[in-house]
Amino acid sequence: MINYGKQSISDNDIKRVIKTLKSDFLTQGPMVDRFEDSFAVTTKSKYAITFNSATSALHASCLAIGVGAEDVVWTSSISFVASANCAVYCGAKVDFVDIDLATYNIDPKALEIKLEQAKKDSCLPKILIVVHMCGNPCDMIEISRLSKIYGFKIIEDASHAAGASYSGNPIGSCEHSDIAVFSFHPVKIVTSGEGGIATTNCAKLKEKLRLFRSHGVTRNSNLFHCEEHSEQPWYYEQQSLGYNYRLSDIHSALGFSQLKELDSFVRKRNKLAEKYDNRLREFSRINLQKVSERSTSSYHLYSIRIDFDGVREKIELFKNFRSNAINLNVHYIPIHTQPFFRNMGFNEGELPISEAYYQQAVTLPLYPDLIEDDIDRISDLLLEFLS
Ligand SMILES: *Cc1c(COP(=O)(O)O)cnc(C)c1O
Repeated sequence: MINYGKQSISDNDIKRVIKTLKSDFLTQGPMVDRFEDSFAVTTKSKYAITFNSATSALHASCLAIGVGAEDVVWTSSISFVASANCAVYCGAKVDFVDIDLATYNIDPKALEIKLEQAKKDSCLPKILIVVHMCGNPCDMIEISRLSKIYGFKIIEDASHAAGASYSGNPIGSCEHSDIAVFSFHPVKIVTSGEGGIATTNCAKLKEKLRLFRSHGVTRNSNLFHCEEHSEQPWYYEQQSLGYNYRLSDIHSALGFSQLKELDSFVRKRNKLAEKYDNRLREFSRINLQKVSERSTSSYHLYSIRIDFDGVREKIELFKNFRSNAINLNVHYIPIHTQPFFRNMGFNEGELPISEAYYQQAVTLPLYPDLIEDDIDRISDLLLEFLS
């Protein structure tokens, strides 16, 4: 069975994890620091803070920036639900910006129009969470220009985008954002089993992220509120309400080892995506994702848009592939149409471009261990079905 994504685990990865299993530390040992240091170097960011998932990293990022019940957070409806849930965890109000049908990312023009209206209505967002859909970087220069005019912070949900680059810098460098968050779930570009990481260049945000990761507790005497304790070796201090969002040394060992393959994984993904592009580009019912000249996509997903003759045809396509041992997928069902968000007052029809994208979207399999013959077979099947 070929699925839309799959991890590649090498013998070196396995050896690295076994080494940690035989060591003195299973959690909060040296591999956490090594993984964080090498991720910061890879992304050209000052700080990298591991978490036990991207979801917990997104939650902690909202808290670190100070999101509370009075605040509004905007994101894209074409994302995994975690991009919105992280703000709901903080009690904030969530709203969605429509996408650009070509890039699948937040449309800067739609963003500007929505900001202008929100300014008039005095309900500007505190944070915009942008999503680099499929690994395709958002128009960060334009989005950061708007952030300065309208005074919001930017979190990049870069769960898809490890190894992608924008305007000459790796995604995660935070050149145009406050925090970037990555996921190490097995279908993502590199994996730690479960896991996530936040990168930032701001020392204050780094400290807060570390506090929220571990119960709001610090052992760093430089940070103690009560200085008289600073000479007591046993002393620790809870300064806020945090969580246990830590990544273990076992997971960090796998992530550290996988990170060495980041470039080669992204290169393979780009090569296979190019092969798909060449096979599918000429077909009039198929539209490919547009990646800007400024960017390199990490191609976490290969999502195309197909002009279907109704939803029935899309169901038949999935069945047809399934009978050929290939699982197609859809990324994503618009978040605002989920029952949980409808109960908050969102309705279908509110984000016409996101909804139009969803009607058409199909994710074809893409992962480093696929070979070009697989891409040919999948393309043949697809073109035959649609002809
Ligand atoms: C996978 C994913 C997440 C959540 O990642 P976890 O590590 O599973 O918590 C969040 N946002 C996006 C866009 C994702 O694809």
